[in-house]
Amino acid sequence: MQGMLTLETLQAAFDAGEIDTVVVAAVDMQGRLMGKRFHAAHFLNGGHTETHCCNYLLTVDMEMNTVPGYEAASWEQGYGDYVMKPDLATLRRTPWLEGTALVLCDLLDHHTHAEVPQSPRAVLKRQIARAQALGFEAMMATELEFYVFDNSYEELRDLGTGDLVPIAGYNEDYHIFQTSKEEPLMRALRNGLYGAGIAVENTKGEADAGQAEVNVRYSDALSTCDNHGIIKTAAKEIAHAQGKSVTFMAKYATDKAGSSSHVHQSLWTADGQPAFRDAGDPHGMSPVMKHFLAGQLEHAREITLFLAPYVNSYKRFCVGLFAPTKAVWSLDNRTAGFRICGEGTKAIRVECRIGGSDLNPYMACAALLAAGLDGIERKLELEPEMKGDMYSTEGIREIPKTLREAADLADGSAWLRGAFGDAVVGHYVHAARWEVSEADRVVTDFEVKRGLERA
Ligand code: ADP
Repeated sequence: MQGMLTLETLQAAFDAGEIDTVVVAAVDMQGRLMGKRFHAAHFLNGGHTETHCCNYLLTVDMEMNTVPGYEAASWEQGYGDYVMKPDLATLRRTPWLEGTALVLCDLLDHHTHAEVPQSPRAVLKRQIARAQALGFEAMMATELEFYVFDNSYEELRDLGTGDLVPIAGYNEDYHIFQTSKEEPLMRALRNGLYGAGIAVENTKGEADAGQAEVNVRYSDALSTCDNHGIIKTAAKEIAHAQGKSVTFMAKYATDKAGSSSHVHQSLWTADGQPAFRDAGDPHGMSPVMKHFLAGQLEHAREITLFLAPYVNSYKRFCVGLFAPTKAVWSLDNRTAGFRICGEGTKAIRVECRIGGSDLNPYMACAALLAAGLDGIERKLELEPEMKGDMYSTEGIREIPKTLREAADLADGSAWLRGAFGDAVVGHYVHAARWEVSEADRVVTDFEVKRGLERA
């Protein structure tokens, strides 16, 4: 696809004076791109084989605090290095950054060169390999919602987030006129991503003032997750260049709709046939699809940690704003955590609607895939479809209400420990509990407003 590079075409672009810089990045626990900028000459002249980063990168929190208590890296172990190994299949132009290309890396143990188990890309690759061993290619798409503000990030740092000005004045779901006003940013995003080898399908307005969505064509799970991180970074970089800002927080304000990252999923056979399709079934769902969905339902509560990784993520799960509160399945029904799309067609797929736009796509897709594969391996029977308004239906499987609860469910899941390994589950549960303890000790505006005079 246009925008993808090989070492040879990068060399040609360098020789032609088109590219002088290569961003060399790995993905951290938060799904952020972390790394270095190489001069293209150095990258071409051997730098593409490997580089290094401090191994604290997989143990820091959002603020880059060195969080105590991790087994993978710590002060006691001296915070050594990881090898950053560029995956040259991800080498591409990033047209929104002048003269710049980008490559994503795997994180390897400095001594053994084995993949670091807690690295999000490694976690996903292991589940993809499991699917392949069962004869399936996992195809996924992650939708991405976000808010656009007229303020620059710098302004907000100076003024405070109380001064956020959404780019639009009203709910802009599907609005063409309102989104025409946002075109300088959204068009640059679509065209920039297309020029970076990312098959953008569309952007649209979403269900609150200043809320947008970008959709990319589904692809193999690894490329989809690689694209997800690049899209978020591109949206921030383009917004910043235009004096604006965007947020991928799941819920940036109490009275605004949350931002989601729905995950569309299907399995295909090695020879390219849709394994979820059965023309003879009333809904066109194959036994493989039913087992897969049954596995995701059975494990939905244990994997919510990876779909909603922050304290803030859980504030999105509220009634009547299109974010689900129940982990049940339904045909084309947006109140269910799992919605079937493309009923009766080749594109039949499971859309998991639980994830917020703050999820780490590798961890979310790996967890969903692991749960689905467990359903296939155990030939789990699919529970009956739920119908109607799931918000008001009592007595059905609830999505955990807090990060504390989700972390406990993941921690106590023997199945998850078997699928991901103790080292991975322990690592991410520790990260979640750190988030909870950080949030627990902070005095919020809510508490002060409520209590200052009246307590
Ligand atoms: P919506 O109306 O919910 O946005 P779309 O029809 O735009 O739904 O599709 C949403 C996403 O689903 C797109 O990114 C699309 O590429 C993806 N998709 C389509 N078919 C499949 C499939 N078979 N497997 C996984 N994802 C798919």
